[in-house]
Amino acid sequence: MARTFSKRHGAPYVIIDGCIECGICERVCPYDAIFMSDDLEYVVDGSQCPSCNRCLDPCPVDAIIPMDAPGAEAVRDSNRPFILENWQSILVDQGGNV
Ligand code: SF4
Ligand code: SF4
Repeated sequence: MARTFSKRHGAPYVIIDGCIECGICERVCPYDAIFMSDDLEYVVDGSQCPSCNRCLDPCPVDAIIPMDAPGAEAVRDSNRPFILENWQSILVDQGGNV
């Protein structure tokens, strides 16, 4: 199924450095997009995340952010395999700035 992105949330969310592995996001995600990786770190599977936002407020350390947000370069290595490869081209197609 094709996935579309809004400009406001130009890309799926990722978990960045600072996550304390509390597991709250995994419990609140209605799409099972967040799970613990083999590295025992929580990750967001971009192919499963429709950017519903429900995990943002519950995270106690604001470690879940959109890929196009400032600070996204701090994404943890454990999350990289789950980032959609084409999120930048999708933004460009929509007229966003990357
Ligand atoms: S934005 Fe929604 S679907 Fe995506 S990881 Fe957070 S709770 Fe899950
Ligand atoms: S809610 Fe935040 S701190 Fe807790 S596991 Fe998820 S990303 Fe990490």
